Amino acid sequence: MRVLHSIITIVALLELRPGGLYCPAGDFYVDPWEPVGRAVITHAHSDHACPGSRNYLTAAPGSAILRERVGPEADIQASPYGERLTLGDTSLSLHPAGHILGSAQVRIESRGEVWVVSGDYKLAPDPTCTPFEPLRCHTFVTESTFGLPIFRWAPETDTIGAIHAWWRANQDAGKTSVLYAYPLGKSQRVLAAIDTSIGPLHAHDAVERYSRAYRDQGVALPPPGSREGATLIVAPPGYEHRGPRVSTALVSGWMRIRGTRRRRSLDRGFVLSDHADWPELLRAIDATGAECVWVTHGFRGPLVRWLQEHGREALAVEARYQEPQA
Ligand SMILES: [Zn+2]
Ligand SMILES: [Zn+2]
Repeated sequence: MRVLHSIITIVALLELRPGGLYCPAGDFYVDPWEPVGRAVITHAHSDHACPGSRNYLTAAPGSAILRERVGPEADIQASPYGERLTLGDTSLSLHPAGHILGSAQVRIESRGEVWVVSGDYKLAPDPTCTPFEPLRCHTFVTESTFGLPIFRWAPETDTIGAIHAWWRANQDAGKTSVLYAYPLGKSQRVLAAIDTSIGPLHAHDAVERYSRAYRDQGVALPPPGSREGATLIVAPPGYEHRGPRVSTALVSGWMRIRGTRRRRSLDRGFVLSDHADWPELLRAIDATGAECVWVTHGFRGPLVRWLQEHGREALAVEARYQEPQA
């Protein structure tokens, strides 16, 4: 979408280059799509963190999981939330985004102009990460993964209650429950909330690999348990469980869309997302006081139109990848 040219009245702290969002005043990229010199990373999901850059800057609680993503040799600088760093002509700080462990909004200030890049975020409470911090800015770059009015999340306790009921019923019927969840973020959120007194559970190796980094940061998660005898298995989508009596379910924001469960041949679907729903997006944007909003990732058009109709300057900004793990 060639829409960036319309910004002529304000000092642009970011511009869209082939590699992603670039800050000329500070000579860095935010979540670049390809290897660059300096990459400031909002969080370690694969659509935000690609390997091969010369050096990385990320929020301290997420540096271990970023290393899992970009490799043991990568040059990673970890910055505590809120600490101000000078990069070129900018003052840069990272602030909690409430999405997954270590997820950050990037606040960039230069000559009195303040821009904030949200990365992925949510406002709903989540014991596995630091809550979203509202920041004032002139321009806010927001994600819009679930930027349609149909997306409204029920409280997490409702979803976890439904998962408990499904697990219990399967256990009574002699079935193994296989719960598919994205291995970084969603799985840990579910594991932190699940009632382990219901029965023996097992977390797949792909999940446990990240859970270790969560425990290192003080997040209480149950041990991975053994697959043998487990009646609930938390595993990445695609895991194939060999066993005669199995019930499968996916936990994802996408389960809000009718037909997803059937298309994926799942027995159940549970709606739980680590992204803001429509009301949260509007609330977060409003709290920034931003005159201008850049909308990226996901359903951009409807959110841009809504903001324009409500008196804000808004435009859609291209993102290279679709969200696989919402
Ligand atoms: Zn993400
Ligand atoms: Zn994302």
